Amino acid sequence: MQYEPIIGMEVHAELLTASKMFCGCDAHIFGAPPNTHVCPVCLGLPGVLPVINRKAVEYTLMAGLALHCQIAEFSVFARKNYTYPDLPKGYQISQYELPLCRDGWLDVEVDGQSRRIGITRAHLEEDTAKLFHAGGYSLVDFNRAGVPLLEIVSEPDIRSPEEARQYLIRLQQILRYLGVSSADMEKGAMRCEANVSLRPVGSTALGTKVEVKNLNSFRSVKLALEYEIERQARVLEAGGTVEQVTMGWDEVHNRTVVQRSKEYADDYRYFPEPDLPPLEISREWVAEIRSRLPELPEAKRARFIADYGLDAQQAEVLVQERAVADYFEEAVAAYGGAARAVAPWISGELFRLLRAQGLEMAEVPVPAKALADLLILIDEGKITSGTGKQVLAQMFASGRSAAEIVEAEGLAQVSDAATLEAAVRKVLAAYPDEVAKYREGKSQIIGWLMGQVMRETKGKANPQLVRELLERQLRQC
Ligand SMILES: [Zn+2]
Repeated sequence: MQYEPIIGMEVHAELLTASKMFCGCDAHIFGAPPNTHVCPVCLGLPGVLPVINRKAVEYTLMAGLALHCQIAEFSVFARKNYTYPDLPKGYQISQYELPLCRDGWLDVEVDGQSRRIGITRAHLEEDTAKLFHAGGYSLVDFNRAGVPLLEIVSEPDIRSPEEARQYLIRLQQILRYLGVSSADMEKGAMRCEANVSLRPVGSTALGTKVEVKNLNSFRSVKLALEYEIERQARVLEAGGTVEQVTMGWDEVHNRTVVQRSKEYADDYRYFPEPDLPPLEISREWVAEIRSRLPELPEAKRARFIADYGLDAQQAEVLVQERAVADYFEEAVAAYGGAARAVAPWISGELFRLLRAQGLEMAEVPVPAKALADLLILIDEGKITSGTGKQVLAQMFASGRSAAEIVEAEGLAQVSDAATLEAAVRKVLAAYPDEVAKYREGKSQIIGWLMGQVMRETKGKANPQLVRELLERQLRQC
């Protein structure tokens, strides 16, 4: 039988607020020594009162608006009760019946096909502490306890592991564009879980879903879902039933393993948090937040294609990060020529240099204006495009301008006919066999001869002129 996977995603993203969700502790905890960002509130000591972080609410609304959600006029925090050593109060303050955002969507594209994935809800809660297990005992670090956490739950609209991966990539882009989360999966600032079930193709019933946790990278999301879909298909093929359980992804052995039987919402005994007032979200505030939303990747991609004549692939690469898109637009404005000519210098040469140094776009040592100046030198025929690549590498390493480097290193393009004629003559004299082949009709060998002349001139010769001179001398001698 043919089965169809039904996948839903649950994503948690730590918000980039200055302080924690309900206390004044510094929320920037990455790399901090254990238990140094703590206070009686986030340690869950008796008698303390939480206070809602307004910025965290604002960031949640920004994410909700970017995901086309309805924003609640009235929302409450709820206690989610469970006992675990990473939860100092014995409950987590979360949202249950009245989340801040609901009923949104996100479009993803796989193989050129666009599909809309529904967003059930986006709500705000607090992160838990972190446990470390070593040599038979466990240690707990409360730095993470109380860091604001945005939870985004999708509808079970995803139909393949690749679609799940694209959903996460798009979601990460949006959160980063908004500046509300670093959404860095490697640092645990974005974590995800997937629900997956199978049903016979054509059926509309839903099968028993299995939750897969511990997905720490885009790659592991895809691998875990592929594995789990195959596993469930084998169970169903053999006439068995899939059990509702929580699985963990074992990265070392590339398999899912049962962690525990699934809990139900009832198990958490949710009730409204008595220590916090209900939240009233005014429409004025929502409108004000909406007016401040930046242009998001999808809109930017469309605009880059329409306004700059980029193809879809080029636009996709340039909008992945806001810093890259901004750099591109700044360079185009300073350059004044065709934007299509600028794109490959960024996605090709500049990305290569950044990667080699392990740098982020935000740290690029060549300002956009300086890249534009380099392209202008090439357009004016002052240097060849090949020399331009060398010059860019030197700009990257030294911070000097293109003009300075060309001047200091004597890299200007050679268009002097006498110099080039001498170089051409030398090459023709050195390769009589190739010259003979050319005369026998192998005309494409001129490309190879051009390469020799370029080498002779250290890549500085005006290529058009070299070709003309070569053709002329080959006809003559
Ligand atoms: Zn605290």
